[in-house]
Amino acid sequence: MDVIVIGAGVGGLAAARRLLADGHRVRVFERAAVPRTGGAALTIFGNGAAVLSDLGISLDGVGGLIDRIDARTADGRPRTTMNLAHAAETYGFPTRSISRRQIVDLLSDGLPDGLVRYGMPCVRVEQDAESVTAFFEDGTSATGDLLVGADGVHSVVRRQLWGDGSVRPASFGTWQGLSPIDIDITDTTLHYMITGKEGACGLIPAGPGLLQWWFDVRWKPSDPRPDAPLEMLRERFGHWAYPVPEVLAAATEDDLDFFGHRWNKVRRVWGEGRVTLLGDSAHTMPPTLGQGANQTFEDAWVLGRELADESRTVSDRLRAYERARYPHVNLVSRMAKRNPANWRIPPFIGRRIPETAQTGMLARFSNRLTEGPLPTRDQVPSGAA
Ligand SMILES: Cc1cc2nc3c(=O)[nH]c(=O)nc-3n(C[C@H](O)[C@H](O)[C@H](O)COP(=O)(O)OP(=O)(O)OC[C@H]3O[C@@H](n4cnc5c(N)ncnc54)[C@H](O)[C@@H]3O)c2cc1C
Repeated sequence: MDVIVIGAGVGGLAAARRLLADGHRVRVFERAAVPRTGGAALTIFGNGAAVLSDLGISLDGVGGLIDRIDARTADGRPRTTMNLAHAAETYGFPTRSISRRQIVDLLSDGLPDGLVRYGMPCVRVEQDAESVTAFFEDGTSATGDLLVGADGVHSVVRRQLWGDGSVRPASFGTWQGLSPIDIDITDTTLHYMITGKEGACGLIPAGPGLLQWWFDVRWKPSDPRPDAPLEMLRERFGHWAYPVPEVLAAATEDDLDFFGHRWNKVRRVWGEGRVTLLGDSAHTMPPTLGQGANQTFEDAWVLGRELADESRTVSDRLRAYERARYPHVNLVSRMAKRNPANWRIPPFIGRRIPETAQTGMLARFSNRLTEGPLPTRDQVPSGAA
């Protein structure tokens, strides 16, 4: 089939890889003039890594390996601990924190020249019984058998399907950076999640010498951007226990990016006729669970699976894809709506529940979040445990 993909973010690129491998003709149209690689690092859990592996992308040795998530109080007491090495053993893929630049490079690697056309904002989509056409800002258009709107949180394709106002601000925003920070946790495999009444902080090793760090604070779109954001963060979080003040002391204003959280209620049917959505355009969610991109990769994999059924019409295959994805993304999205700053599990609960039980709960919960069965591999990659 002739597939048009709008957007060359991680979702559009993953879908393009999958559909090309399945023998479809694929054209991707991206608004930006060049590949978009900003936005610090993404945590890729076993489900995302499984799909990437199926797309021919190995993450072995890429970014930083994470085998444990420790939740702490602002004054440094342990809340809970979860062992991700256990999940890696079960599913065959460890968790890694990888810069978005590296992921975009890996997804782009090997795609035919000219498959992605940059500087092509889509402005409108029209379809009839036979085909679908995307119209671009420069007055040109492209016609195909089906169209995938992978154009992110401010999706033009979604707006045309659902109208305005479906994506709303979600109370918090993230200040984040990915920078060389020379403290002892940078070269470990430990992800810290620290929560207190001022907000939340995450510290995630992201490869040799690199630390991904983020601070979640309450936010609404009308809030003015602070003149000196790092000063604001130091005032708010500087009194927290080690290593938060040390990270804030080492960070620079240049390292900082801000993302206001947004959320939409996931729809059971999110496309229409020959048009569907994929990734954030269908399910924008706060980064609370670190699952946005992972779920987007699952979308790409399931879309390929459902399109392969040639006994059904294009429209039926696209609806089958949406139906298959709905229960998982709906659950993830509802959970992600709740910011970690509001999940302050009292330390005594973590002390009473043994680590193996905490890890087991995480594994069971993770199973519910993801599509099954995902592609697997038999062996735990080297360095996973
Ligand atoms: C602070 C933060 C931290 C996060 N951390 C994680 C994490 O650790 N793990 C995780 O799994 N997820 C994480 N996420 C979520 C993740 O970034 C998204 O879920 C993921 O990027 C969605 O991919 P996408 O391709 O759907 O959208 P995007 O990556 O946003 O890509 C959309 C693309 O479409 C293009 N586009 C937009 N409009 C048009 C148009 N009209 N025409 C043509 N092209 C267009 C855009 O330029 C862009 O390139 C995080 C998000 C944030 C904000």
